[in-house]
Amino acid sequence: MGRIIIVSNRLPITIHQNGTGFSYRSSAGGLATGLNSMDRSLERVWVGWPGEEITLPAIQEQVLEDLIQDGLVPVFLSKKEIELYYEGFSNKTIWPHFHYFTQYTTYQDDYWEAYSLVNQKFADAIKPILQPDDLVWVHDYQLMLLPAMIREFAPQTSIGFFLHIPFPSYEIFRVLPWREALLKGVLGADQIGFHTFGYMRHFLSAAYRLGGYEHLYGKLRVGHRLINVDVFPMGIDYEKYAHPEIDLYANDDSFKIKQLARNKRIIVSIDRLDYTKGIPQRIKAFEQFIERYPEYIGKVSLVLIAVPSRSNVDNYRKLKQSIDTLVGKINSAYGSFDWMPIQYLYRSLNFNELSTLYQVADIAMITPLRDGMNLVAKEYIAAKDETKRGVLILSEMAGAANELSSALLVNPHDINKMAEVIQQALEMNENEQVWRMETMQQHLKRYNVRHWANTFVQEQKRLMEQQQAFN
Ligand code: UDP
Repeated sequence: MGRIIIVSNRLPITIHQNGTGFSYRSSAGGLATGLNSMDRSLERVWVGWPGEEITLPAIQEQVLEDLIQDGLVPVFLSKKEIELYYEGFSNKTIWPHFHYFTQYTTYQDDYWEAYSLVNQKFADAIKPILQPDDLVWVHDYQLMLLPAMIREFAPQTSIGFFLHIPFPSYEIFRVLPWREALLKGVLGADQIGFHTFGYMRHFLSAAYRLGGYEHLYGKLRVGHRLINVDVFPMGIDYEKYAHPEIDLYANDDSFKIKQLARNKRIIVSIDRLDYTKGIPQRIKAFEQFIERYPEYIGKVSLVLIAVPSRSNVDNYRKLKQSIDTLVGKINSAYGSFDWMPIQYLYRSLNFNELSTLYQVADIAMITPLRDGMNLVAKEYIAAKDETKRGVLILSEMAGAANELSSALLVNPHDINKMAEVIQQALEMNENEQVWRMETMQQHLKRYNVRHWANTFVQEQKRLMEQQQAFN
């Protein structure tokens, strides 16, 4: 068995220029954590953009040498490429479109051309390092053309592709002028994974309607290849959130967060500031809740954490303004000298602060309009491992809702109903909180991120062995 080559837009590091040299810090997102906890018998190489524009060939050479020692292969991208491929086609075309925000979809040929060129750049970076028995695993919507591009020069290589965002209904997907090329790109893989059955079904439908490919139990025949299309819901590092080593004396706000809950109940809302997350609707639901149930005034606060994201994009700036206005309106109308309905922060939290907030929150309200999975919802449940107390209000439009059916599921557009559900959550008796929590915890403990990564790779390996025996 060869190595596993992970390919994602970003390498799991951040790079800092200091004087004449560089320093590198690992940034462990969900993906990196999952892969780190994976079966160690496979040697691992990770290919991706290092996150900085580096143009001078001599410096590129130095960074390459530094990183290769840790199994990291940088793909150098210029500012222009990042602007057109990443901020452009990835985040202004695919992101809104696949989340059903078709009014935000940008149709620009220069974005598309850059997307193709950068995908080719990734392929060119993989070509010289690929060995015959390697298994390749490509991640996410920024690299949908890559599987077919790798297939061109490595027809026998086992290639996996996982989409971390929703795959939309065919009626939405068909609107994109580049639909066939995107489909063909992904179909270069031997195994294609999605978070939910719904996304998988949409993809299979697109493959049939656009390419005439029929499937049998999720197996697609494309030419002489049999592709496995399946559901692999991504989990979290359960133990990390269940038993965090919280340091209340750290140089951060964790102690203040702990104090927050001293004499009132806390509803927490945490997401990147993104139009897919349904933040304005959630705030309006909270406003309506205070209006309809004034007995809670002074007793319950919404802690609203909006993590800055893509803030140079117009839609995101406008969304920020409308959230600022809404929060201001509610706080000025209902707030008093000793209570604010909404505690609003526009910043990210570190792990210490995040864990503290999960622990003190009586309710987590996570109501995206669309979300591939939503890991925050899962992390909140894990953080209640010891107390078993707490209630999750979760959007039925989040991928996580398929697994977390013991949450209070809501339609994130139904503001009236959400206001009512907040009251229901606050009044839920302890027995009910415990059984709901335990049911979800048992699931998340078992189907953690390690399980996700291992299952995907095991399945791909099995497929590879079958194909080798067949050839
Ligand atoms: N997160 C964080 N700091 C914050 C807020 C969120 O580190 O202040 C992390 C959180 O723990 C979670 C991730 O960011 O793992 C967000 O993932 P999710 O799937 O919920 O949403 P995404 O941002 O990927 O759409």
